[in-house]
Amino acid sequence: MNSPKSRPLEVACPSCGKTVAWREDNAHRPFCSERCKLIDLGAWADESHRIAGESAMDGMDIDALLARADRDDMPQ
Ligand SMILES: [Zn+2]
Repeated sequence: MNSPKSRPLEVACPSCGKTVAWREDNAHRPFCSERCKLIDLGAWADESHRIAGESAMDGMDIDALLARADRDDMPQ
């Protein structure tokens, strides 16, 4: 008799959707390969990079406006 517990759990690769066996010897699970793992991590890095860049730019704009206002008010 085959026990259902002996079958490996299968998951869909988050990057390409390929069926991946969830096994201890699959270092990249739930991804099918290192390539898909890096693609997914890269997507996350791009996302956080863009958000961080936007907020940093907003802060610089406010500082620049304040600095310009200070200079205009300053008597020569
Ligand atoms: Zn994949």
